[in-house]
Amino acid sequence: MKKIITIISGVSLILMAACTNTNTGPSGMELRQQMRKEIRQEHSAPVPEQGRLQQEENSGGGAGVNRTSQQSAGADSSLMRLQASTPELEDGLEEQIREPAPMSLADLHRKYPSTFVLSGSEGRREVALTFDDAPDAVFTPLVLDALKKAGVKATFFCVGNRIEAHPDVMRRIVAEGHVVGNHSYSHPNFIKLSDARFREEIQKTDRLVKAYTGYAPSFVRPPYGNISEEQIKWLASNKRRVVNWNVDSLDWKNLNREQVAVNVLAHIGPGAIVLQHSGGGVGQDLTGTVQAVPEIVAKLKRDGVRFVTIPGMLGIPQ
Ligand SMILES: [Zn+2]
Repeated sequence: MKKIITIISGVSLILMAACTNTNTGPSGMELRQQMRKEIRQEHSAPVPEQGRLQQEENSGGGAGVNRTSQQSAGADSSLMRLQASTPELEDGLEEQIREPAPMSLADLHRKYPSTFVLSGSEGRREVALTFDDAPDAVFTPLVLDALKKAGVKATFFCVGNRIEAHPDVMRRIVAEGHVVGNHSYSHPNFIKLSDARFREEIQKTDRLVKAYTGYAPSFVRPPYGNISEEQIKWLASNKRRVVNWNVDSLDWKNLNREQVAVNVLAHIGPGAIVLQHSGGGVGQDLTGTVQAVPEIVAKLKRDGVRFVTIPGMLGIPQ
């Protein structure tokens, strides 16, 4: 049993590597390992590969090979014997009959690798910091201050109704040279929306962003990272990319500076797209994010990492 789990874990790792390694050769892998090693040496935080996998599965941005269900697939035989004493459900298990499960985000990334992006090239020592749910009146200005001080340009995924509520902060994001991505108008879970409503969420925010930047963003980050195959196809037909992330700071859990910095630095590698937030809900505290910016930037700069925006990393228009 233990051996089976080990083999499955190995396969998961290979799958994981295969699907995050879109345009890399051995040099990309080496670079990534080297960068991680350097960061681990300086950072006291343990960097378990397993933790990374688990985190990426949870975040929806990663490979999504579900280890937990694979491990439980080999449930011990005495349990199965006990279950066999119960009559079977006539038409099969709930999971087989209920509406067909939509493709997982990992499947969608594999099927549409150039449209549904989780990271940049592992062959370049570049990292993109991204901040979601902007603008707000409390944390976005503080994140902007921290980025200005650090001399870093980032990508802000802005929510349309927040742009309407905080025009001054929006102007500041643009004036300070950051890039803006479309993060919907009202932050709904896209997969629950009708086609018409989904398109309206995108187009309304396009118009709002364009009023400040002069461009409608060429890339979208769906709220919660969630999106359906049909929605990806529609965006692709409109020459848009979907940009999620492969490093999740988990800062929305009100983490402190050290926790945010460790979550980012322990999982970073060349081509990483880092998810942080610069706007929260009522009661949410993103102080940890604000305070972690200088530490993350200083550490990576010492390692020779360049900070790029999403269009800079992916070679796409703003
Ligand atoms: Zn969001």
